[in-house]
Amino acid sequence: MNTPQYRGRFAPSPTGPLHFGSLVTALASYLEARSHNGQWLIRIEDLDPLREPPEATGQILASLEAHGLFPDQPVRFQSKQHHAYQAAIAQLLESQRAYRCPCSRKELQASNGRHPHGCRRGGVAVGDRPYAVRFALEDEECLWQDLLLGPQRQTVQAELDDPVILRKEGFFAYQLAVVVDDIDQGITDVVRGSDLLDMTAQQQQIYRAMGRTPPRWLHIPVILNEQGQKLSKQTHAPALDDSSAARNLIKALEALGQQPPSTLADASVDSVLEWGCAYWRRSAIHLTSR
Ligand code: GLU
Repeated sequence: MNTPQYRGRFAPSPTGPLHFGSLVTALASYLEARSHNGQWLIRIEDLDPLREPPEATGQILASLEAHGLFPDQPVRFQSKQHHAYQAAIAQLLESQRAYRCPCSRKELQASNGRHPHGCRRGGVAVGDRPYAVRFALEDEECLWQDLLLGPQRQTVQAELDDPVILRKEGFFAYQLAVVVDDIDQGITDVVRGSDLLDMTAQQQQIYRAMGRTPPRWLHIPVILNEQGQKLSKQTHAPALDDSSAARNLIKALEALGQQPPSTLADASVDSVLEWGCAYWRRSAIHLTSR
């Protein structure tokens, strides 16, 4: 089978229903994929049941469907991929790119972010203490190219920034799972909100530690509310009204700097998406948040 030239995805964490900010991200990733004749997937990143109301996944999927955003493959659920994360952790522990860390936040703070008992060097038996697993970063001045934002420079600090990949409570962490699934699903292009920009250099190291080449990244500005806060569950972003799906899509296109004509005002969801696919211009996306 040929590897597709372009395979993108939308990967929401189901902490609440879809809101306007997440629709904008979903639409941008969808239009990027379609305008490259690529495939587009949906992945539900349900890693933390304590933060995820059980109804949120169903609400998100129904909303995406109402907005005509259908994936090219069955939806993937991270809650069903634990075996893959477990295997990745075993591989990283084996190659000494990860370590068992029983340190408490207090202990780390008291030693300026260094691990006081030598767990990072594998020098400590964790015994009965609950432990997390952390990825062992390498010091790096990471230079990379964002497809929208241009050249990026991010400093990665070994030890001080080492991200948890398996939490003490037993939950797998986003930073690992996102890389494992993007590799497994053959994702070539990640389009997501720029609130995740700072994660990218660390994720590149995880790709390389797993022997893989990172995908291309394109970070879009996050949508802000009137108070200048990112639309999210924490800032009480209202759920999308699925009965106005076509209008929501027009607003999302406008938020992405596109200029849908006024003749689309009463058009169907399919017609708005068709217009979006035909006239999508990545370069029109505003670089500042609104
Ligand atoms: N699940 C993450 C979120 O909802 C996004 C993951 C990604 O696109 O890399 O914030």
